[in-house]
Amino acid sequence: MLLDQIKNYEIFRPKCDATKEVLHSIATFDSDISPVFPYLNAELGGWDYDQTNQVVLLKLSAGKWVTLQPHEIAIRGARDIEESQALLEWIKEQINDIYERRDGIKPRYTGQAGLKVMEILKLLPMTNCKACGYATCMAFAAALREGEISLNDCPPLWEEKYRGKREKLQVYLECFGWRALDAE
Ligand code: SF4
Repeated sequence: MLLDQIKNYEIFRPKCDATKEVLHSIATFDSDISPVFPYLNAELGGWDYDQTNQVVLLKLSAGKWVTLQPHEIAIRGARDIEESQALLEWIKEQINDIYERRDGIKPRYTGQAGLKVMEILKLLPMTNCKACGYATCMAFAAALREGEISLNDCPPLWEEKYRGKREKLQVYLECFGWRALDAE
């Protein structure tokens, strides 16, 4: 087991959050969890992976973020203590499970933050037809990069005449481990 004992766990409301609606929490431990990072990044679709400084950033649904460093897990955006603790248990389980299975996982060193909105835009139909509910293809591209929507939300992209663009876009997204945020 890569991560067994949590040494300290602190839950607090950030002073900068005027709404007081979300909690932050930080768990620290002696174990070094960095060996799992490239595998965890591949399995969970890390938003960003800074290999030099060994930091993985996971973007979850509804404004929740998990930042992993070798001896620390920081969780931002939980609504209450129960959710904060549940998120910590979840990521702890993921760390240990993925580490156990690492021999069967292809490590990934890129994150979704590397995706460029303009590159996505070039591979959309670029008709600004609004069928997706967005005013422009640019707005759609920005939301897609964030994982808020998926390719299925652009109906014209699935027409035969856009097959080439769609396939290139799928490959481009996959290169960065893109995935849609999980619905709550
Ligand atoms: S449905 Fe597709 S083509 Fe139409 S505006 Fe949205 S992204 Fe652009």
